[in-house]
Amino acid sequence: LLQKKIHSTQLEINLDAVTHNLMFYRSLLHSSTKTMVMVKALGYGSGKTELANTLQYNLVDYLGVAFADEGVELRENGIRTPIMVLTPSPDSFETMRMHQLEPEIYSIEMLNALEQYLEEEDTETAFKIQLNFDTGMHRLGFTEEELPYLFQALDRLKNKVKVTGVFTHLAGADEDIHDLYSKEQIKSFRKTTALLEKNIGYTVIKHCLNSAGIVRYPDAQMDMVRLGIGLHGIEVNGMKQEDLHTVATLKTVIAQIKVMNTGDTVGYSRKGVVNGERKIATIGIGYADGFDRRLSNGVGKVVINGYLAPIIGNVCMDMSMVDITDIPAEVGDEVIIFGRSRSISTIAKEINTIPYEILTSISQRVKRVYY
Ligand code: PLP
Repeated sequence: LLQKKIHSTQLEINLDAVTHNLMFYRSLLHSSTKTMVMVKALGYGSGKTELANTLQYNLVDYLGVAFADEGVELRENGIRTPIMVLTPSPDSFETMRMHQLEPEIYSIEMLNALEQYLEEEDTETAFKIQLNFDTGMHRLGFTEEELPYLFQALDRLKNKVKVTGVFTHLAGADEDIHDLYSKEQIKSFRKTTALLEKNIGYTVIKHCLNSAGIVRYPDAQMDMVRLGIGLHGIEVNGMKQEDLHTVATLKTVIAQIKVMNTGDTVGYSRKGVVNGERKIATIGIGYADGFDRRLSNGVGKVVINGYLAPIIGNVCMDMSMVDITDIPAEVGDEVIIFGRSRSISTIAKEINTIPYEILTSISQRVKRVYY
């Protein structure tokens, strides 16, 4: 029984909270604005298929993944919602067409590869694609100078390709100080998308806002928004946390408790120095589970029976030690790494990173449990 408990580290995902957060974000949108939800990186760590099922049930308009094989997996699991693939490789064009996945075309090289692929294809139905315009993120996307080339290629491909959408990504929607920059990006996007539509002769779905953008730029919703971290109940742009529900709870249990005294040390490199009589609990989670090693030795804390317990010593691969001196606890008790009682944002701040990294680092071996 004990052995079983030691390994019961799990990520619990509340799908009602997912629905709640989706509804909350939808309440910020105009009735005609569509929603794409990003389920890349294993659905921000929470399981893309399970999230996608919930999202499809709630009639989300689009899903976003990074790679073609993620989209294929969703299709094989019964997801029929339109899917955009953000960073597809040209050798997956055929796969994407077969599974009705819409690749993001973002560069001249990719456009040429698409044209070459379509030259060899005798297709009846047009291949649906999405375009990325770089307005300032400077990651992927066509620049303004490249537009004439793009328009010529789209004209050559007009019977073989259907542009369903065009998007850009704001580089600083999460911070006030970038307000002018973001507004310039939005302005430039409006201009270039108008040119695109004029050139191809039909309207497309235009989208530029991520979660932070949805909160900050309601006037730039255009035809669709791309919701990511907001779905997980992580607050962005000073949103009220009460409006959102916690989706993921990472839990483990106490495997062993020891009483130690001055002079004793805990864990590798003897980094955890004990002062006075202390009660130390070993918990069943380590850096191989995605429990960040930067939380070692007093930086991070966990919640046990409602109390905060600081980590003592270095986080190990499968285990960590916490100081529970003043905490009523016994072997087998639940340990909350994050959840309602301790937010992902708090942990992110402790190790100078962002909630996205905490969520997407939970390793595959951690069992996902849905409720
Ligand atoms: N759109 C694109 C192109 C993205 O890469 C991402 C996430 O990285 C999102 C939207 C969603 O962003 P967020 O999770 O900040 O809402």
